[in-house]
Amino acid sequence: MSVVTRFAPSPTGFLHIGGARTALFNYLFARHHGGKYLVRVEDTDKKRSTSEAIDAIAEGLGWLGLEGDMPAIMQSENESRHRQIAEKMLAEDTAYKCFLSDDELSELRQHCRENGTALRSPWRDRTDHPADAPYVVRLRMPDAGTTVIDDIVQGQVSVNNTTLDDLVMLRSDGSPTYMLAVVVDDHDMGVTHILRGDDHLNNAFRQYHIYSAAGWQIPIFGHIPLIYGADGAKLSKRHGALGVEAYREMGILPQALLNYLARLGWSHGDDELFTLEQAISWFDGTSIGKSPARFDMEKLQGVNNHWMRKIDTQDLVQSVLDFGKKTGKTPHQDTATWLANMMPCYTERANTINELLNQTGWLFVSGAPELSEQAAAQLNDEARARLLSFAAFLNKSEAQNTDALNDEMNQWLNDNGLRMKDIGIPLRIVVTGSKSAPSLVDIIFGVGFKEIQNRIEQICL
Ligand code: GLU
Repeated sequence: MSVVTRFAPSPTGFLHIGGARTALFNYLFARHHGGKYLVRVEDTDKKRSTSEAIDAIAEGLGWLGLEGDMPAIMQSENESRHRQIAEKMLAEDTAYKCFLSDDELSELRQHCRENGTALRSPWRDRTDHPADAPYVVRLRMPDAGTTVIDDIVQGQVSVNNTTLDDLVMLRSDGSPTYMLAVVVDDHDMGVTHILRGDDHLNNAFRQYHIYSAAGWQIPIFGHIPLIYGADGAKLSKRHGALGVEAYREMGILPQALLNYLARLGWSHGDDELFTLEQAISWFDGTSIGKSPARFDMEKLQGVNNHWMRKIDTQDLVQSVLDFGKKTGKTPHQDTATWLANMMPCYTERANTINELLNQTGWLFVSGAPELSEQAAAQLNDEARARLLSFAAFLNKSEAQNTDALNDEMNQWLNDNGLRMKDIGIPLRIVVTGSKSAPSLVDIIFGVGFKEIQNRIEQICL
């Protein structure tokens, strides 16, 4: 059997972290088995679906590289097909027309509640259908037995059929319900495996009987526990339950988010950091946890830091430049080179692209940075004079690497009766605008001797 999976978001908001993980699991499973991964937008709830949400979901999936193997299917375009299947079930008597009025229905519901029985409409067995009266189409649920699902995550799960209501498949205006639409679309798309949140497990028992009534093969289900916050409570905005675009904006790399999401509820031994290709080769549908995974922002940042170091420096620099553009930071002709030189120092201090950008503002200016009052106050006449003599030393230096420069600098400090901090603090301020910056030699080789001299002279002369 060739595997077909799908991700079926309802476009009522952004692509949130849980949805992205569901998409990823379906993607990994399909790729692992050399199958197909499809996307279906469940836009039948017209009141709650918005075109902004459809765009945001497409954008989020695109950023993560989780678009389907074919253009996304819009569920609303299949409505006549959904109706056709309900009509077929009516003709085959696996479904029936129910003419209960609203009042009669609430009375019946009340009765069912009091007696602990599932809803069975009296119209199940009646043939005296009124002409021109509104009706809904209900599925005829079995009256006895149990429904058993071999879920690849939850194991064997079952319900007593006497707890399953005769569910509505077509409303009185002829529109299909979610329950019917999902089943018909999954069948028509040839879906073999459905991985989704365990909030859909109850639906699976009901959908099982729509498949049976239609005479279709029931797909294999895997219901994944929802994601919780680091404190063990259900994930909310407070925990970082944001749309994926929020992580993008804070400077999380897509490969980092994918890596982190793959580990949320699934494991491969002790492996924490891995590529998408590795995840594909390992993700066979086993090792998905039965208990909720906890979302931990600090861990995500740690994974991001790993990927910032791992990707090509030019790509990292480009990301910093792109982030700079958004905040109006215009690079000059040397910015990209300087950033590339300095990246190894800054990836030790920053976990996101935003943090990288915030710390490297001094590489976007040519010449001395603007000094805050507080920074300028640390540059007394003595410090300025020392910096000028350091500039003269640099002018003569022939050091070709950081080790050689370190040696020369130590000699120079010695000769002048100075200690590293006497020059370190003022130099960092003059060059970077801040006293917390990478080591002096890294800064000096990062932007070059000439630029250091320029900055010193501009401020101290
Ligand atoms: N559209 C549903 C949701 O976003 C998912 C349906 C399904 O996966 O079967 O929750």
